[in-house]
Amino acid sequence: MRIVPFGASREVTGSCHLLLAEGRQVLLDCGMFQGREEEKNRAPFGFDPQNLDAVVLTHAHLDHVGRLPKLCREGYQGPVYATRATLLLMRIVLEDALKVMEEPFFEEKDLEILQRHLKPLEYGEWLRLGDLTLTFGQAGHLPGSAFAVAQGEGKTFVYSGDLGNRQKTVLPDPSPPPKAHLVLSEGTYGDRPHRRFPATVEEFLDILDRTLSQGGKVFIPSFALERTQEILFLLYENGHRLPRAPIYLDSPMAERVLSLYPSLVRYLSEEVQVYFLQGKNPFRPRGLEVVENAEASRALAREPGPMVVIAGSGMLAGGRILHHLKHGLSDPKNALVFVGYQPRGGLGAEIIARPEKVRVLGQEVPLRAGVHTLGGFSGHAGQDELLDWLEGQPRVLLVHGEEEKLLELGKLLALRGQEVGLATLGEGVEV
Ligand SMILES: [Zn+2]
Repeated sequence: MRIVPFGASREVTGSCHLLLAEGRQVLLDCGMFQGREEEKNRAPFGFDPQNLDAVVLTHAHLDHVGRLPKLCREGYQGPVYATRATLLLMRIVLEDALKVMEEPFFEEKDLEILQRHLKPLEYGEWLRLGDLTLTFGQAGHLPGSAFAVAQGEGKTFVYSGDLGNRQKTVLPDPSPPPKAHLVLSEGTYGDRPHRRFPATVEEFLDILDRTLSQGGKVFIPSFALERTQEILFLLYENGHRLPRAPIYLDSPMAERVLSLYPSLVRYLSEEVQVYFLQGKNPFRPRGLEVVENAEASRALAREPGPMVVIAGSGMLAGGRILHHLKHGLSDPKNALVFVGYQPRGGLGAEIIARPEKVRVLGQEVPLRAGVHTLGGFSGHAGQDELLDWLEGQPRVLLVHGEEEKLLELGKLLALRGQEVGLATLGEGVEV
């Protein structure tokens, strides 16, 4: 049994790994490269898509599924396995990607071809490809997210996919993996543990309370999948502690995901399931209003507070949030709250550095609103959680992280006597 990484090697995006065993070839994830690595999406895969027997997906994030339409375009006609939740969310994610990509490398018809090959595989169900078998365990990172376990040639192999932040409440905690001959593990936050989640929540509620009490607007750039629903859940549970104010959801993609959530209840935490059993939807807090179209969004940007505005894009790379910021950043009563990662060189990172003025949609705006960054909302396992999850595994190969962070995690694993390496693009490793 061999594993060959074809993405996310000493970087975060482009997860795509080829598993070879029992004469079969299985692709684990087929993700898009993002940010600085984007042009790599146009390069050949490094393997022949027509030789694959199956594709297995760990979760619906673009950096794990974004090159699937390209795989179909290049002749792959076999099955694509994932949990039902992943398959439903992936459709929204890929359709949105096609809409916002400046130079798309696939078309609508590739998505249609892909749609015909999807096959649900749930946690604990075994997929049999001759003598090679695969199953999923709970990864707790998105609804339906999984780690993959493969058995063949007398070996057990585990691929972590992305592991969730177990401090958070909406999703189940990651399950422990079985003991394996090799674990291919993510190490996104290999360098540090996260701040305690309750402290993050308190800070978040405090900012909302102060801002809304003085009639201000709270802007939350939204990551449409997972983060928006997490924020709405917190607003639902803590609404009684906050001044009454409308909560505007101004992101068509987040609204699509939100509408899907009630059908994904069994993929959510028990705490969330209890609300649904009581006939309540805990992702629709008091005061929630969905902004219908771009025109209504622009009109809203001119209206006075108090209000909460959740709008895309999460990294301020475009989208409706920009109108809100153009009109709202000059008012010291308002607050901008970052609940997700802001890439270097982006508008978010520029605003966090607190210059006197920023340029938004071609207009110079004085920056007088409060700016807050809450790192504790991360959807990934922190360093301590990664160490726990990898406990007792003799060999670990690290992917999905910046090199310094993977080296930091690798040092700690080696200190515990675990054999550890960093994955290299295209370089196969014997399981
Ligand atoms: Zn992910």
